[in-house]
Amino acid sequence: MTLDTIAWIVIGCGVLASMVTVVHFIILDLEEKERALRKKPLKKEIVEDGHGAMWSAHCPECGEKTMHVVRPGKVQCGNCG
Ligand SMILES: [Zn+2]
Repeated sequence: MTLDTIAWIVIGCGVLASMVTVVHFIILDLEEKERALRKKPLKKEIVEDGHGAMWSAHCPECGEKTMHVVRPGKVQCGNCG
């Protein structure tokens, strides 16, 4: 094995290592985005009273996203009342 070969192997390892790092960061970034995507719609579809209770933002009567908290423990539809 000549010094040249060893040098190329070292360079090759370095390139490979940096590629793995880049791919790793891309995967981390994608996972982050996926998590954000999964979280977003969930949060939009839910109303909270600030006391740990949650309801669907969609009214069971009319199906519209009009539910809002009227007092802790109670939600009401803006359309149906
Ligand atoms: Zn309604």
